Amino acid sequence: MVKNVFFWLILFFFLMCILIGLNLNNDLIHEVNYTTFLSAIHKHEVRKARIYGKYIYFVNFMHKKYSTYMPFYDHQLLHKLLLNHVIIVGMPPQKSNILFSMLVSWFPTFLLIGVWFYFMRQVKNNVGRNSTSFGKSKTRIFSEKKIKVTFKDVAGCDEAKEEVRELVDYLKTPKKFKKLGGKIPKGVLMIGPPGTGKTLLAKAIAGEAGVSFITLSGSDFVEMFVGVGAARVRDVFHYARKKSPCIIFIDEIDAVGRHRGSMFGGGNDEREQTLNQILVEMDGFEGNPGIILIAATNRPDVLDPALLRPGRFDRQVVVSLPDVQGRNQILKVHMKNVPISSDVNTMIIARGTPGFSGADLSNLVNESVLFAARANQKEVSMLDFEKAKDKIMIGSERRSMIMTEQQKECTAYHESGHVIVGQLVPNHDPVHKVTIVPRGRALGVTLFLPESDVINLSKEALESQISTLYGGRLAEEIIYGASKVSTGAMNDIKVATNLARNMVTKWGFSDKLGPLLYETNQEDGSSFTHSLSTNSHISEFTASLIDKEIKSLIEKNYCRAKKILKDNINILYAMKDALIKYETINASQIHDLMNGKIL
Ligand code: ADP
Ligand code: ZN
Repeated sequence: MVKNVFFWLILFFFLMCILIGLNLNNDLIHEVNYTTFLSAIHKHEVRKARIYGKYIYFVNFMHKKYSTYMPFYDHQLLHKLLLNHVIIVGMPPQKSNILFSMLVSWFPTFLLIGVWFYFMRQVKNNVGRNSTSFGKSKTRIFSEKKIKVTFKDVAGCDEAKEEVRELVDYLKTPKKFKKLGGKIPKGVLMIGPPGTGKTLLAKAIAGEAGVSFITLSGSDFVEMFVGVGAARVRDVFHYARKKSPCIIFIDEIDAVGRHRGSMFGGGNDEREQTLNQILVEMDGFEGNPGIILIAATNRPDVLDPALLRPGRFDRQVVVSLPDVQGRNQILKVHMKNVPISSDVNTMIIARGTPGFSGADLSNLVNESVLFAARANQKEVSMLDFEKAKDKIMIGSERRSMIMTEQQKECTAYHESGHVIVGQLVPNHDPVHKVTIVPRGRALGVTLFLPESDVINLSKEALESQISTLYGGRLAEEIIYGASKVSTGAMNDIKVATNLARNMVTKWGFSDKLGPLLYETNQEDGSSFTHSLSTNSHISEFTASLIDKEIKSLIEKNYCRAKKILKDNINILYAMKDALIKYETINASQIHDLMNGKIL
């Protein structure tokens, strides 16, 4: 089909060229009226005349060309021409010319017919639902032999790998698994930024289990014609049932799985139907052991909640950007088949590439090989990696995601602030790990490890949380001065304020207000004191008292955090250095740092 279109395009161009050529020629010929022609003959100005029926082309003695048209058949013209010694040239009727003019006049019709045929075939391909048309849809199917990817090829996301490992056992022997009462998710949602290896991990599951891998992209479903996407979904699942056990992998599920009705203008019929079809197929899995649907997205927030309901994509695996250790391992995986010179230190490369995804690192290795090949080297050297890194970092759009040294330092202080306060306030969860690898919108993350699933928190524990939340911003303030504090603490402030508000208005932790519930259905917590003041149940006096209590609670804990950080400024420096060096530090390293060690 592509060939066909191409042919028409070329023909079109060809004809356009000819037409333009003719026009250019015409430009040199001056058109005059018949009277001018006659008077020119009388004045003996015409040297030669070519006559094509009623058209006459003539040349004067200056070799200028003219054309004219006989208004009626002038029988005396020949006589006049002969009388004035004009050379008369006749033209035989030209066959080729007629063909050509026919072609020109028919061309638009041909073009229309061509386009019409093209679209008819397109529609047939899409709507037809038999097995032959399925082959033509964009789904690619890899048979079990083709998938050679295993877990060994996926590096640096051990947690995600652990989470999907049981799927392999299930796919290998679905019946046995079922007999033992194993409950297997029908759908797994892989969440993570692009290039972090979601597709790779899904393939590795298929590779390890030796099952078919059916892959398609969410955008394949978004078609012009309503109903086509849904038909395609039906096709894919139909095929998968024949192939089971197998994995269906849907990349960019957010292209179809967006929150229904969230589009302005009332929603998109086609996408809605496609999504509904996916849900229907998933719900019909019950009797079909051995099919696992894996979908990937980097926007879980826009997904329709129906997709995340139990029995659908209820298992979620987060595949985040790798930290320095992960990058080290990924680099090693990709260097396996590349001749590497002995001066290459993967750890140093890993340190210098914060924010790189697995795909970026794979690209980095590839670029380095190209640099080495261009220089006719037998091995790839460290210098090649440096050059490749510069090329990628400076030349690519991802630079905004990759932090500058300044940002990195600021983030390191901020996260260290959270950690130190968190470790030194009473009754607070221990820190699990802390990282300055950017994740989503956050530049760094401090993860606390709750010791048990406590639902009831004491007043002391809550106050400790508030102090800890301010630790990040305070560390920045102490180091850089109050005027240079970044906006990175917005979320911290929001969470802390909500905690304090709940303590005062819901949980009865304020002596002045007593154990009363002052607020109803304010769950989202996005607006607080203002809506309180307008709440008719609360007097203005009470509202201002609530404000005051929240403020004093926060101030008390803010000051406590400040004192803790100032008293432990040396630990703050050491932890910042450790974070810049390792990017992620774990509980035992934090323990060492808290005891005054330098890492
Ligand atoms: P995603 O589906 O998350 O966008 P892909 O799985 O398509 O990313 O990754 C693209 C390529 O990047 C892979 O083919 C692989 O070469 C490389 N890659 C990504 N993540 C990893 C990883 N964790 N380990 C090894 N290679 C990786
Ligand atoms: Zn913070």
